[in-house]
Amino acid sequence: MTVAHASCHCRRLVMEATLTRPLHDYAPRACDCDFCRKHGAAWLTDPSGSLRLRQRGNDSARRYRQGSDQAEFIACAYCAVLVMATYESDGHLFAALNVRTIEGTADLAAEQVAQPRLLSAEDKPLRWQQLWFADVRIEVG
Ligand SMILES: [Zn+2]
Repeated sequence: MTVAHASCHCRRLVMEATLTRPLHDYAPRACDCDFCRKHGAAWLTDPSGSLRLRQRGNDSARRYRQGSDQAEFIACAYCAVLVMATYESDGHLFAALNVRTIEGTADLAAEQVAQPRLLSAEDKPLRWQQLWFADVRIEVG
């Protein structure tokens, strides 16, 4: 097990990813959609791992939907750092972590380009359910 610590810039949003393999086994996926490119985001996921978000105060996370409107992005309402993408299906939450928020990303494998915009609206959520963290908890404290 590897634990990756991550946060937004002002640390109102603090994440902890528990991974089944060492960090250098993970190739972040740099999504080529307009939104992710403008943020320079690349995504880390592990379907067998877990992802926790601790959010300081109810008003510290902003949520945004774009594209096919299926995923929801979470950014800090104060420092504007994009931290996570989430997808909910039948009350189950899946999520991906923006690797730019991780301390020590140098340990990760080389990034790969992902092109979810080429997938159909039906295929996208199926892919997310296979790849993304499936054990996701968001705590407001
Ligand atoms: Zn912040």
